[in-house]
Amino acid sequence: MSARVIDGKAVAAGVRERVRAEVAEYAETAGRAPVLATVLVGEDPASQIYIRNKREACEEVGMGSRHHGIDAGTSEDDLLALVAALGGDEEVDGILVQLPVPDQIDPDRVVAAIDPGKDVDGLTPLNAGLLAHGVPGLVPCTPAGVMELLRHEGVELEGAEVVVVGRSKLVGVPVSRLLLAANATVTMCHSRTRDLAGVCRRAEVLVAAVGVPRLLGGDAIKPGAVVIDVGINRTDAGLVGDVDFEAAAEVAVAITPVPGGVGPMTVAMLLVNTLAAARARV
Ligand code: NAP
Repeated sequence: MSARVIDGKAVAAGVRERVRAEVAEYAETAGRAPVLATVLVGEDPASQIYIRNKREACEEVGMGSRHHGIDAGTSEDDLLALVAALGGDEEVDGILVQLPVPDQIDPDRVVAAIDPGKDVDGLTPLNAGLLAHGVPGLVPCTPAGVMELLRHEGVELEGAEVVVVGRSKLVGVPVSRLLLAANATVTMCHSRTRDLAGVCRRAEVLVAAVGVPRLLGGDAIKPGAVVIDVGINRTDAGLVGDVDFEAAAEVAVAITPVPGGVGPMTVAMLLVNTLAAARARV
């Protein structure tokens, strides 16, 4: 293996330290710590773990968190009413509704009901639109985490050839917008892309956000590329990314591992967003 392994845990720990110091400053001035409200519909075990991690992360940096665990059979109207109430609650700075939600609820309607100023996941139409216009408000956490990793690694994005695989609202589209705003030349790939490996091989920076275990092999990596693997796939062999780590690491100059790469950044950037949302309300 020749590639440098990008240590997302360490970068995320640095971000959390910075947030902890800034939360203390904020609390001194504002007379209160920022508060994140989390909402979970039902009892999906993976979602419960995500929510617990996020709430613990809040506590660690001195932020408050308030959890609303509601019944799996809750109606869309009741959830919308809760989201609206949190939007009007002076004590709440950030609102996070854990997705997915049960089938009777339209996730797009719920996300659209979140007060954009408290939208710490950055997924409301207003925040997505601001990002599309190049004037970001609150930015989705995982894409923000990818950008933070690239900054930390000192990757020059201006004019760089960047390929993003995946075009979801959660990751692929927003990360492409952020890369474009950083003046990279961005190509987006998806399930209909012809010659995926060939397009990826052009990339000085390759971002994979697909959800297919080890989709991208060594033939998809340009020698000397920086590879950011957002994928988290559960397999019999444990958690793996969208990139074949061993094969890619022979060719790339730097690569994120799975786990321990982008994953820890997502929670760290949620803290950054919650603090930013609180500051914007003062
Ligand atoms: P998603 O909504 O399912 O989107 C997947 C994207 O990949 C789609 O745009 C799809 O193309 C594309 N795709 C699927 N199969 C493909 C193929 N064979 N070749 C090329 N493109 C293909 O997934 P997501 O929410 O963006 O998540 C992507 C991955 O990131 C998942 O593994 C997820 O678990 C992980 N993730 C990690 C974090 C983290 O914190 N690290 C956060 C969020 C997500 P079409 O649009 O054409 O269907």
